[in-house]
Order: sequence, then structure tokens, then C-alpha cells
Amino acid sequence: MASDVTRPLVVGNWKMNVADGGSGAFARQVAKLGPYRCRVAICVPHPFLSEVDRALRGTEIAIGAQDCSDQHAGAFTGEVSARMLATFSCAYVIVGHSERRARHLENDLAVATKAKMALDCDITPIICVGETLAERNSGEALTVVSRQVSAVTRRLGLDVARCVFAYEPVWAIGSGRSASAEQAQAMHSFIRDQLAQQGSAAAAVSILYGGSVKPESTGKLLEQPDVDGVLVGGASLNLAHFSEICRVAGVSSGIGAAWPSDDAQSGASLSAEV
Ligand code: PEP
Repeated sequence: MASDVTRPLVVGNWKMNVADGGSGAFARQVAKLGPYRCRVAICVPHPFLSEVDRALRGTEIAIGAQDCSDQHAGAFTGEVSARMLATFSCAYVIVGHSERRARHLENDLAVATKAKMALDCDITPIICVGETLAERNSGEALTVVSRQVSAVTRRLGLDVARCVFAYEPVWAIGSGRSASAEQAQAMHSFIRDQLAQQGSAAAAVSILYGGSVKPESTGKLLEQPDVDGVLVGGASLNLAHFSEICRVAGVSSGIGAAWPSDDAQSGASLSAEV
């Protein structure tokens, strides 16, 4: 486990799965099931930042966004800048998610620039990297991830120590097929070595694993020395599953966490879908 960063970081990514008003209530339920003894954040769609910001004020749960522009301001129709995100209490923003790299053709430089914009606004970028199945099968996984990471280190220099990375093998996202803990550890260690070679405080950088994380896979993943947390898509939409992932992560921090209360148990049975 790298650095407060002594506590694992669990990040929920709701993607575009929130239809209407339920986001604040759901976020409040997540908070109510704490304390978790790990760091927890929820990345919500832009239109719901305000509602979730209000719902989570004064709680241990941080909020994040799912993307930001690579520009601060100007004629960029439809884009949302990090400066705008900073008007909410956004602590994090995901950049370079594979769904954006694939659907919006975001290249490595754009992703690195988005990370810079976030840092300029004191928002921690969660920089997603990861190979496709074809790239893994052709033995290119390390080359691809190395290229994605080095675009960031070149752009940010030592500021890379202020970032979070998420290794998300594309073949594991939403597929129900998680990378094994050993595969995750191998890639995380490779990423950390690359950050260290570049001269940054690599041990201080949290490197999350993402891709079909479930409550039952969380413990083994977080036992790995270079897995500092998890980025959770589908399972973050289920209250019981997400809070259990956070609980397991809290236990794996070594501080220990009991299933919080009877209230929590009943909350878990709500299985609230956003
Ligand atoms: C994600 O999209 O970041 C993700 C990890 O999704 P899932 O957990 O659903 O695979």
C-alpha cells in the first residue's frame, strides 16, 4: 500500500445511469452506512453534482465528476471545465476512461491535459489507463499502458505525484470478468516503477484497480502491495454491494471496520438502484 494513501480509496463511477432525482438520496444512503475507514468517493454525472454535493456535505464521502474539458474556458460547446467542477466540492475527476477514449477518440495528450486542468483547480484527477483484449492477447499490454502513463508524466512532471491512476483493463470493464489479483498486481507494480523512474514520489500515488470489481473480489485485490483501491462501475449502483466493497476495503486498511450498525444492515437490504 502506497502512502494516506495508507487508507484504500474506493471510487464509485455511476456513469450515465442516473435517470432523475434519486441521486442525492442514494448518496446519502451510502454515507449513512459508514463510517468505512477507507477513503470513499462517488463520481456522478454533471447534472447531479449539485444535488449530490448537498447530500454529502459534512459526510466522509467525497464527490467526483466523470470527465472534464482539456480547456479552462471558451467556445467549447457542451464541455465542462475543471473550474466549473471546482464550484461544487469536487475532490476528484475521472479522466481518460476507456469509454471516453473509445467513443470520443480522446488521445493520450488530451487525457494528460485534462489531468493538468484538474490539478490547476486542486481537483485530483483519476487517470484511467488499460489495454484492450486484443492488445493483451498480442502481448502489447505493457507497451500500451506504458505509453498512456508516459504521456501523463511528460505533461505533468513531478505533479504526477498529485494524481490517482486507475488500471482498468478494457476487457474487464462491465464484462463481469475481473482481472485476477495477480494480473492487477503485475500491472500496478509496472506503473509504479514507471512513475518512480520518472522521478516522482511514486509511493505516494494511489493506483486503483477497476474492472468488474465485486464485494467478493475486493479483499484479494487489496491484499496486493501495489493495489491501493478500486474504481467501481456497476457494483456502485447497488447500495449493499458498494457499501460492502467499502467495508472490505476499510478492513483491508488494517484499521478494521465492523459492519456499522443495524441501520446499515437494513439499508443494505434496500439494494437501491440509482
Ligand atoms: C468502470 O467503468 O470504471 C468500471 C470499472 O466498470 P465496472 O465495475 O462495471 O466494470
